Amino acid sequence: MTRRLRCYGCGRTYSIVERKRCECGEPLWFDTLGETGADDGEDTNGFEFDWPDEDWTAGMWRYADALPVSDPPSSGPGPIPGTTPLFRAEGLDEFAGCRLSLKPEGQNPTGSFKDRGTAVGVGYAAAAGHDWIGTVSHGNMALSTSAYAAAAGLECAVFVPADTPPERLALIARHDPHVFRVEGDYGALYHDTLAIERESDLDVTFVNSDTPLRVAGQKTVAYEIVEQYGPDGPDAIVLPLSSGGHASGVWKAVRELEAAGLLETVPQLYFVQAGPCDPVATAYRADRDEVTAVDSGETIAVSIANSDPPSGTRALRAARETGGGVVSVPDDATREAMARLAETAGVSVEPSSAVAVAGVRQLSESGELAPDDDVVTVLTGSGYKERYDVDVDSRARTIALEDLEDELAAITD
Ligand SMILES: *Cc1c(COP(=O)(O)O)cnc(C)c1O
Ligand SMILES: [Zn+2]
Repeated sequence: MTRRLRCYGCGRTYSIVERKRCECGEPLWFDTLGETGADDGEDTNGFEFDWPDEDWTAGMWRYADALPVSDPPSSGPGPIPGTTPLFRAEGLDEFAGCRLSLKPEGQNPTGSFKDRGTAVGVGYAAAAGHDWIGTVSHGNMALSTSAYAAAAGLECAVFVPADTPPERLALIARHDPHVFRVEGDYGALYHDTLAIERESDLDVTFVNSDTPLRVAGQKTVAYEIVEQYGPDGPDAIVLPLSSGGHASGVWKAVRELEAAGLLETVPQLYFVQAGPCDPVATAYRADRDEVTAVDSGETIAVSIANSDPPSGTRALRAARETGGGVVSVPDDATREAMARLAETAGVSVEPSSAVAVAGVRQLSESGELAPDDDVVTVLTGSGYKERYDVDVDSRARTIALEDLEDELAAITD
């Protein structure tokens, strides 16, 4: 597996230790397809991969041959992500307006798809001998990263927005990471942490929402969807969108599977945002090529409230190039979809996941999806952890964004 990174936008290449984002500003990912040919002697032309023989108990590590891990582990650090089911939800077809299948990623060890990317990021950092791992999160990624860092014996620093609900922080605190609630611009926090990693002497590896290792792990959800679905894959895959890291992984996966001859037609990729915070849908509607930050309002979909998404432009490209699209839905539609999922399909999800089903309904109503379309919706996070009766001791300190590097230096010393 190549260790080289490539910019999907301008084609520049880098080594994995150099950086996570391109000089042009766009995010990097692993250069598995060698799109414009190898120019540094590393042979990445053509993507060779076949469905694995391993049984499904290996979870996402079944696809280790397609992952940037040395000595493919039979399991990475901690509990094994992946092998979540894919099932038809006929009872919701009428509501959804198409033939709906669900992929409940809340069944992953810490309750969201984030575990797939975390397992690769933490596994890589541990193998490379790093002591510290960090992340910037609304909650699910912090929980996931804390858990896998604990399993790998790494120290973990997580930075969350100051208004992250205490119940979430309490769940995270069980894994004993260093948690900081940061007052300041969440979009800037993402870039500031990567700048600290690149420019300071601190040895903290950040596995933020769309970093190459995370995207590599998260692509396995689409490998699973295509393998579970059968030879042709579904007509469309729909997911909720925040940073665009998940969307990038899914796009990468379907391109790789097509290159490997395992997928004849790439499914249309549709992404759904919450109306009050929808920078990518706004750019899509305006027919722009670039996503820019928006002013956002309150939404119940807290896990996807990123008004300045670091992989927004890449996600926009994914939607356009696969013939899909990007829409946003009001919170009331999300509430209705969340209730239908629980009452009709027996699946409890958090609002940020229900957004995708509300999006499917809206796409059907507008005629974009047809009643006989086979649509897979990724339900990104479990609904069972929001209201746990936990001891609310979050152990989080509140800090200012300007103090980020000093605070990190103080704990890593
Ligand atoms: C992180 C998250 C998302 C958004 O994923 P991105 O990669 O940031 O676009 C969606 N749903 C849930 C439950 C999440 O935790
Ligand atoms: Zn670039």
